[in-house]
Parts: sequence; structure tokens; C-alpha cells
Amino acid sequence: MMSFSAKKRSEYIQTLKSEHFDLVVIGGGITGAGIVLDAIFRGLKVALIEKRDFAFGTSSRSTKLIHGGLRYLKQLEFGIVHEVGRERAILYKNAPHIVIPEKMLLPIIKGGSLGRRSTSLGLFVYDKLAGVTKKERRFMLNKAKTLEVEPLLNTDILRGGGMYVEYRSDDARLTIEVMKTAVSNGALCINYVECTDFRLNDKNKINGIAVTDSITGEAFIVQTKKVINAAGPWVDNLRKIDLSLKGKRLHLTKGVHIVVPKNRIPIKHATYFDVPDGRMIFAIPRDNIVYLGTTDTNYKEDTNYPYADKTDVAYILAAANNMFPSVKLTEKDVVSTWAGLRPLIHEDGKSPSDLSRKDEIFISESNLISIAGGKLTGFRKMAQRSVDVVCAQLKKEEGKICRTCSTEFIELSGGNLEGKSIEDYARQLQTKNKNFDLKEITALVKKYGSNSNLILEISETKTNNDLLLAEAIYSMNEEMTNNIADFLIRRTGRVYFERNNLEEKIDKLHQFYTEQLCHDNETALRFKEDFYKEYEGVVQFKS
Ligand SMILES: Cc1cc2nc3c(=O)[nH]c(=O)nc-3n(C[C@H](O)[C@H](O)[C@H](O)COP(=O)(O)OP(=O)(O)OC[C@H]3O[C@@H](n4cnc5c(N)ncnc54)[C@H](O)[C@@H]3O)c2cc1C
Repeated sequence: MMSFSAKKRSEYIQTLKSEHFDLVVIGGGITGAGIVLDAIFRGLKVALIEKRDFAFGTSSRSTKLIHGGLRYLKQLEFGIVHEVGRERAILYKNAPHIVIPEKMLLPIIKGGSLGRRSTSLGLFVYDKLAGVTKKERRFMLNKAKTLEVEPLLNTDILRGGGMYVEYRSDDARLTIEVMKTAVSNGALCINYVECTDFRLNDKNKINGIAVTDSITGEAFIVQTKKVINAAGPWVDNLRKIDLSLKGKRLHLTKGVHIVVPKNRIPIKHATYFDVPDGRMIFAIPRDNIVYLGTTDTNYKEDTNYPYADKTDVAYILAAANNMFPSVKLTEKDVVSTWAGLRPLIHEDGKSPSDLSRKDEIFISESNLISIAGGKLTGFRKMAQRSVDVVCAQLKKEEGKICRTCSTEFIELSGGNLEGKSIEDYARQLQTKNKNFDLKEITALVKKYGSNSNLILEISETKTNNDLLLAEAIYSMNEEMTNNIADFLIRRTGRVYFERNNLEEKIDKLHQFYTEQLCHDNETALRFKEDFYKEYEGVVQFKS
């Protein structure tokens, strides 16, 4: 069984340099993580590299819903609705700690995109296609009942509502749990290693990749039979290096979310509501905050650091104030923001919101297998399709027979809640850990599921009940966390959702990672600067 510790990074780099792999995956977002999980269970020798941290790209910046894709119904993409609906049920079974059913309210308004009948029919079709269980089927409400459910709604334009079930998740944590499961079954996954070029054999087919370790600066070659390019918004950069950027291309669109304290918009339910321009956005309560989004605009700037600007924020605030007029949100209420890039496939003449979210695989002459488009929700199927390509090629070329895809049946790391709800599992943990209250333990279970046990053990034996430090240790040893940005942004989401008293903890945590991982001054400074670059983008927005 492989470990996944930042302390053993140089050992992993050594393995990456010296072994010969069946498959190397470029990109440590949800797509790459899903592929590496699928491949290891098919019996392939597989490695994954990520140029920054796992989930650094779009996979930490989505709406964080594992959804059946109601909006695709409007675009008549029945196939997507059916597939992601089924995937949602599989994910809930395999990772119940991070895939949480959430009742969603769909207000029907005067002049809105859906009328009462079409909403009822739409949600009915959606439930059927997504195969939802009886208890989660939609129900319709009249105006009075809708206002009872959500008194903050705009009575002037409200006509009624529909209730259906979506699933809330944490994209970056889902990515890391998928990756941890792959690693514990033998895959090699390393962050801060960037692919810079490809190596070709005498038939001009890829048989290796050139990489740079961005922590040490060392450059080397990784030998592999097959390469999958799962680089999200950067897929075309690698296709360009491969000289295969012809025909279909990516079309990047930016989506922004804002975070507001719950007491400034005390909605009782997650809501999916109309914006006056004809689009729809979400308002999703999460502990003490509500996050709202998203936008959908063409994007051509720096792909590493997409941020919300004042126009994005004003758009979401205006939409919220239109639907919940008494809240009167202003810029001052926004505690943090994030912006993600959708790696969509370009279609001439289509606006950002009309572009299909379908995934597609491109295979170049040199045999670079690129996968683009798609959704967080559909990652398992995308992985299956990509690994099917690899297995078919290996069978043809060397008679190798892969096992069939089995990820449908694989419980993800942290997912063993023993059939209990998060709350009941937390209660059970608390009976054995009286040093922490139920709220603290529940918060832990929502992030780490059944692995919370290990963190509580560390806090008792190593950190004198300092739970944050215990989390930082666990994260370093079990989730390859190298620095404060990895920990505070992607492993725990604290920068977005738990800003209270965060600033006073930053220096202590930075010092912890620097000392534990023996970073030299230059590396420590770079990590700190990188953190503040991301942090400032999250807590400020440009004019
Ligand atoms: C605003 C927004 C909201 C969304 N909401 C939802 C939602 O609610 N539900 C849903 O199902 N989907 C949603 N999506 C879609 C979903 O988030 C994406 O489809 C998914 O995260 C894409 O994952 P990925 O792994 O393909 O790309 P990414 O997560 O971007 O991963 C690609 C990785 O490749 C790395 N990389 C790039 N180049 C190299 C290189 N040369 N060497 C090594 N590594 C490299 C990058 O650093 C990056 O980490 C949303 C998307 C956006 C933008």
C-alpha cells in the first residue's frame, strides 16, 4: 500500500523517475483523480502528476453540487441528465460524508424562465431521468406555501415554487478522497510536478513526458506507454506542445461565486432562482454562510489566477436583491469570492451559457489522449471512457487484458460511516472524545468522514488537543499537503468559508509546514507569497 505523505515526496519523485508506467495522467483535478482511480483498479501501473496542488484548477472552484443537471433539461440534453443523475446516486453511496442531499427550492416567478406547468413537468422528467428515490421526488407549492417555506422571497413577482433534491459536496475534498483511494490501492500521485514536453519513440508515438519538479526545480523524464491529458482549462496548452491543437478547441468561461454571512441572507433552503437576464443562479446555505453564484462569461486572461471582479459581484448581488428584496446585500457583505474556469468545447456562434457541458476525448497522431469538457458529477464515467481507450490500445499493441471498470463499487476514503448519517456518526465519535463538542466533531466528519478518527487520535496523542494542528498533521501525512495554501484553501476550504480568526493562524501554520517539511528559505517564501496571491484574490475583488 502506498502512503500519501508530503514528508515522503522525494521518495515518490525517485519512483516517478525510475519506474516505467503503463499510464501517466497529467492533471490532478477531479478528472485526473477519477482516471487514476479507475486505472489502478483495472490493473494498470499508473502515476498522476499535478503542476500545482491537487484541485488547484476548476475542481476547487465549482458550485460544489453533485447534480442531476436540471439546466441541461432546458437545453434538451437528456443523455447528460440521465447519466449524471445515476452518477449522483453512486457517489452518494460511495462517499456519504461529502455528498449530502439538500432540498432545493425553485421559485416560479412572473416572467421567469419556467412557468408552473413547465416546472412541474420539468422536475418530473428530471426525477425520472435522474432515477431519484420515491422520498426525494419533487413536489409543487402554491404561492402561500412557497412563502411559508421561504419567507424572504419577493412576493411581488412570486407565483409558486417547486421543491426537488440536489446533492451538496466539496469539490476539492472529493478530488482528494478519490486520489487517496487510488493511492492506497497502489497509484502514485504527486503534486507540484509539471509536464513541460513529450518524448516520442521511433514511430513518433509518445513514450514519455518531460517534467519539472516545481519545488526543487529538477527536470527529468517519466517513462510511460500511455499519457492522458486531463489538464482541465490547460488541455489545449498541452495539445499545442504536442502539435495537435487542430479542429475542436477549448472555450473557457469564467464562473464566480460570492460568500455572505448567513445572518445577512438567512434563507432556510438552498434556492435555484431566476436572474432578470434569463439565466439562473444558486444560493446555497453552508454552516454559517450562504454562497451565491454563478456567472458565465468568456475568459481570456491568466488561467492560473481567475478572480471575481466588481462587475461579477454586482451581478450576483443584484440577482439576490431582486429575489430576496428585504436583504439589501451590498459589496460590504461579501466576505470572500472564488472564480473558476469551465473547460468547455467551443461551438461557433454559441453564447457561454449555451455551450454544451458534454465531455469529449481527442486522440492525437502521437497518441496523446486528451479529455475535456464534462462535469464534476460525471467524473467517474469520464474516467471509465478514458481508461477504456487506454485498455483497448494496450490490448491491440501487446495483448494486455485490463480488468473491467469497477469504480461503481469502490467506497471512497472517509466514506465508511457505517450506514449512519453524518450527525449520528459524529455523535458516536463524541461519546469517545469528550474533549471536543459535537459541533467541532461534526465539522470534522463533514470534511474527513470516517478518517476523523485518525485526527482525533493525533490531537490526543500529539497535539495536546489542538484540533487544528492535528488536522494539519493528518493533512501533511495522509493528503500530501505541502503548505498553507494547500491546507487552508483546498483541503479545508477555510479561506472561503471559515474566515473568522483565520488571519492569526496563518503564520503559525506556515511555520509548521516549513519546519516539518524542511523547506529552505526560498521555498518557504515562495509558498507564502503564492498563498497570499490566492488569498487576496479570494478576499478582495478588482475594479
Ligand atoms: C463556476 C463553475 C461551477 C461549476 N459547478 C459545477 C457543479 O456544481 N457541479 C458539477 O458537476 N460541475 C460543476 N462545474 C464543472 C466542474 O467543476 C469541472 O468540470 C471540473 O472541475 C473540471 O475538472 P478537471 O479535472 O477536468 O479540471 P481541473 O480541476 O482544472 O484540473 C486540471 C488540473 O491540471 C493541472 N495541470 C494543468 N497543466 C498541467 C501540466 N502541464 N502539468 C501538470 N498538471 C497540469 C492544473 O493545475 C489543474 O489542477 C463547474 C465549473 C465552474 C467553472
